[in-house]
Amino acid sequence: MPTVAVVGAQWGDEGKGKIIDLLAEKVDMVARFSGGSNAGHTVVNPQGEFKLHLVPSGVFHPGVTCVIGNGVVIDPAVLIGEIDGLRGRGVAIDRFFISDRAHLIMPYHLLLDRLEEESRGKGAIGTTRRGIGPAYMDKVGRIGIRAGDLLERDTFRERLSQALEQKNRIITGLYKAEPVKLDQIYDEYCRYGELLAPFITATELMVAEALEQNKKVLLEGAQGTLLDIDFGTYPFVTSTTTMAGGACGGLGLGPLKFDRVAGVFKAYCTRVGSGPMPTELLDETGELIREHANERGATTGRPRRCGWFDGVVGRYSARVNGFSSFILTRLDILSIMPSIKVCTAYKLDGETVVDPPYSASALERCEPVYEELPGWNSDITGARRFDDLPEKARSYVKRLEELLGCPAGIISVGERREQTVVVRELF
Ligand code: GDP
Repeated sequence: MPTVAVVGAQWGDEGKGKIIDLLAEKVDMVARFSGGSNAGHTVVNPQGEFKLHLVPSGVFHPGVTCVIGNGVVIDPAVLIGEIDGLRGRGVAIDRFFISDRAHLIMPYHLLLDRLEEESRGKGAIGTTRRGIGPAYMDKVGRIGIRAGDLLERDTFRERLSQALEQKNRIITGLYKAEPVKLDQIYDEYCRYGELLAPFITATELMVAEALEQNKKVLLEGAQGTLLDIDFGTYPFVTSTTTMAGGACGGLGLGPLKFDRVAGVFKAYCTRVGSGPMPTELLDETGELIREHANERGATTGRPRRCGWFDGVVGRYSARVNGFSSFILTRLDILSIMPSIKVCTAYKLDGETVVDPPYSASALERCEPVYEELPGWNSDITGARRFDDLPEKARSYVKRLEELLGCPAGIISVGERREQTVVVRELF
């Protein structure tokens, strides 16, 4: 029975929510391994439209166990709000679990995220200010608070007061802001602990058991590979591993357990926030994509930067993740284009390069080298098989297969579940 990782292959927002929701129908478990409430998935299904930040998109399928792994950082207020919102709309939350080892976002993380970002001035990273970066810093700095700590109040209070000693020195000394208060945070988080207690458990053992029982497990990534802390466009990246390999450490899973790794690519590129994006279109074509596709962030509502498909960073992403296939979303958006460009190389300081340079500043200097393909100019949202797609759309997909070095597995031609062409089954 397969274990399949599905991860973002670009700068996030590739449409993973729809894909996970679609695949969840076929699996026993959906397990999320990284990120926090900075990730926003939009799922449109027969129950309505939902924006999820923390709860895995598998939640809409009765019988599917949903897991938030230790690699995720959890803002308990956001999670409780999301659970209440889902329950209020008739979605049962009865097979949902949180790793006791998952770190929590605390009020001082939100505060420090804002203060740090403001102090960066023009060099701002463009964080979503959800406290994600500071929470991961505390995890690595070994002063983090974990979900399991909420169940052991004495430990929690002790760890919290240790953390606050350090945080308040920074908040008052460096940023001249008001200190945060121990009792207030302690009481608030104890309340969260009571609400979340039924969900908190050793999820790594649940995953192990599912694998031992040959269950089908879907490993859900957050954000995208080009935002990965190591292989993204550093420093304009998120604070964690977004790549498929992150599922090992973010859930407690051996590397030999993966059967397939699928990367989700949008048929063009988008990016939210700062950082290099070689194929960004600052002209009316970019504006046309943004308006036609309503490219605005699910978490922040920020307009997304839009551009042509970048085959250079795409191939890089496919190689560092080891994709066995790719999932292409939003192909229908390109139906309005008379012709479509694909970036196959960059010009960097007069040289042609086919791999992205290591530094963000060099990537900023890269000029895309484009290949132009004819558009298909027809509605493809009714396509259900590869052969239903117009020949020019098929040629576009085949060119991406060549550039990425792996075959297309699923092609999404609309936001609804059924608006999907499955070329190769993942489960
Ligand atoms: P995610 O975080 O990767 O899930 O990305 P978003 O939340 O930004 O989702 C992308 C948006 O695109 C959502 O509103 C989806 O419903 C929608 N969507 C997903 N796949 C397709 C598709 O193939 N075509 C169109 N038109 N919309 C899609």
